[in-house]
Amino acid sequence: MEYKPLLRSLVPGDLSGLVATAGLPSYRFDQLADWLFAQGALTWETMTNLPVAMRLDLASRFDLVGLDLVERQVSSDGTRKFLFRLRDGATVESVTIPMGEHVTFCISTQVGCAMACRFCATSRGGLVRNLEAGEILEQVLRLRADIQAEPVPESGDRQFNVVYMGMGEPLDNWEEVAPSLVVMMDGRGLAMSSRRIQISTSGPGEGLRKLVAANPGVGLTLSLGGSTDEERRAVMPVPGRTSISEALDLAVRYARGTRRRATVAWVLIAGSTDDPGQAERLATLLRGKPIKVNLIPMNPLDDANLLPPDEKGIQAFRQILTDAGVDTFVRTSGGRDIAAACGQLRRRRLKT
Ligand code: SAH
Repeated sequence: MEYKPLLRSLVPGDLSGLVATAGLPSYRFDQLADWLFAQGALTWETMTNLPVAMRLDLASRFDLVGLDLVERQVSSDGTRKFLFRLRDGATVESVTIPMGEHVTFCISTQVGCAMACRFCATSRGGLVRNLEAGEILEQVLRLRADIQAEPVPESGDRQFNVVYMGMGEPLDNWEEVAPSLVVMMDGRGLAMSSRRIQISTSGPGEGLRKLVAANPGVGLTLSLGGSTDEERRAVMPVPGRTSISEALDLAVRYARGTRRRATVAWVLIAGSTDDPGQAERLATLLRGKPIKVNLIPMNPLDDANLLPPDEKGIQAFRQILTDAGVDTFVRTSGGRDIAAACGQLRRRRLKT
């Protein structure tokens, strides 16, 4: 099936070009951008200050809405999990996570994923397709509208961060992720500071090189999960094709370019990635580099083959890194009671 492109997939520069080509005055672009991004309009009819002819012309060439809410779950810890159906029937997840003063929106960049990481629910069905920039952005607009309609207790309804940490590998879809970042940071888009945005990647070499070259200034998290190439390939077979040393070199280059520390994300799996020997080798790899570590205890999937270590094991792994002078934090996953681990909600739906 063929779809029109989403109007929100266009970066502000292209949108203003569109308005100029139609022979319309430039203030029409300001009004349109305001509806699309500041207001997050979901119908053409609401754009009352735009001429009907302009709206009809746009509607004949572009779709305004790409997401349809299928399910919204709220966890006892305040985490909100959303399942959206796309125009072709595929589904993606997004999550709102309360973080004290602000909330974090965790958004998806692909339907499914080709990376085949053993611990990740999204990997199970393989890659279905890339998301369009407008589909990536609309997740943020929907989640923003949701906290405005119902502020998260203590975190309020205004300040949000965005992490590209949902379904998919963002750097395998750089062509669409890049314009989505432009819109998020453009004053005529979502006007977000780069400080509030983080890209999490398993670090495919080609994608990492594109990120380093583009240098968008957003934060970088590299998901590692192995201290040698062999160990890493055992849990992350596809990203493991890029050597750890190359991925780390690129992460360091990016961190220097942005003057912002990078993060290594490390899934802690009992009897596998929690090995103290791995902690020691990881410490050696990271010592002196502008990189900190986030340890993420494994969030068990439905089949529960892989489990997190106990608290003692988590702290022992952390201690080895901190003793070596590597800043290390433990990230507990929110929303366990609503299956908020990557891809779990979608997977349950696909099975029922
Ligand atoms: N593909 C990107 C973004 C999606 S995964 C990446 O790899 O970074 C986001 C993070 O969730 C990664 O750090 C990944 O290691 C982690 N993750 C995936 N499944 C998990 C699970 N079941 N338990 C804990 N962390 C998980």
